[in-house]
Amino acid sequence: MKDGFDREIDYLRVSLTERCNFSCVYCMPNGQDKKQCRDLLTESNYKQIIQIFRELGIDKIRFTGGEPLLSPHLENLIEFSKNLGIQDIAITSNGQGLSKNLIRLKEKGLKRVNISLDSLQEKRFKEITKNGEFSEIMASIVEAQKLGLKTKINCVLIKGINDDEIVDFLNLTEKCDIDIRFIELMPIGEGVKYEGVNPDVVLRSIPDVEYFSQQGSNTEGYYQKKGSSGRISLINPISCSFCDHCSRVRLTSRGTIKLCLHAKEEIDLTKYMTDSKILKEYIINSVLKKPEKHNMKESGTSSSEKYMYQIGG
Ligand code: SAM
Ligand code: SF4
Repeated sequence: MKDGFDREIDYLRVSLTERCNFSCVYCMPNGQDKKQCRDLLTESNYKQIIQIFRELGIDKIRFTGGEPLLSPHLENLIEFSKNLGIQDIAITSNGQGLSKNLIRLKEKGLKRVNISLDSLQEKRFKEITKNGEFSEIMASIVEAQKLGLKTKINCVLIKGINDDEIVDFLNLTEKCDIDIRFIELMPIGEGVKYEGVNPDVVLRSIPDVEYFSQQGSNTEGYYQKKGSSGRISLINPISCSFCDHCSRVRLTSRGTIKLCLHAKEEIDLTKYMTDSKILKEYIINSVLKKPEKHNMKESGTSSSEKYMYQIGG
């Protein structure tokens, strides 16, 4: 399926819940009332929408949240996606309690895992996430790798909070064959209260690395220290470097489509759920309206009215 700018849309990110067992300082509002979380889609609603997107050419899907492991639908929807023939099935998770679920999820069709880890220091990790158990997250990373799942660590760098750990993360790539993605903090939700780290500053902190581009690929290039098996990549959403070849749309647990993470507009699918044919037409027409790019760099802010825990990142 193409959007109005001739971009191939083949990647669906599905948020399964707004709920989360963590309360990361830059993501979840302090004292967020869990009752305010509104997950409206049922499992059969999710299946109906995923099936339509599959018919329209989606061949990559990522389940996220909130915390996707808190959703009772995760396992079934991974299996459903696999049975539809979707090859690339991934989750983004905070990793808490993930290790004991990984074998089942892999059996159902899970191929790739992104695990968020913003600090390698146990005490600091707890301060950032509030409820995170550092050892559990590390166990999940080890287990995912042991099972042969493609595993990446997501680390959001924040000035004055964890920006002194860039080299520690780099050193981890010497010891482990792991991909670490430094994600630029976005001015969205609670993120507006913090200051991110400029990609140039990150690069200056890791001088002895070689850059490898991944031409022909939709994904970012990476940096590698000589002799290391692991790799570092920089995800710089603010500079808008991905917009030209953005291939993704996002489905929220409230049944809306976000055509751009940073756009205010959302497309409400719930009113068309009773007729799959009409729903499909509606999706096709909606995708044509996907914005060309966001303007976060110019405006310094995201136009999204939703927080990241409500969209899924
Ligand atoms: N709970 C899961 C997790 O933390 O991996 C999935 C949802 S979480 C919203 C997805 C990703 O968004 C995480 O890697 C998180 O660090 C990132 N994130 C949240 N708020 C952000 C912000 N303001 N800027 C950049 N990344 C953010
Ligand atoms: Fe939860 Fe993920 Fe947001 Fe942290 S980043 S509060 S784990 S949704």
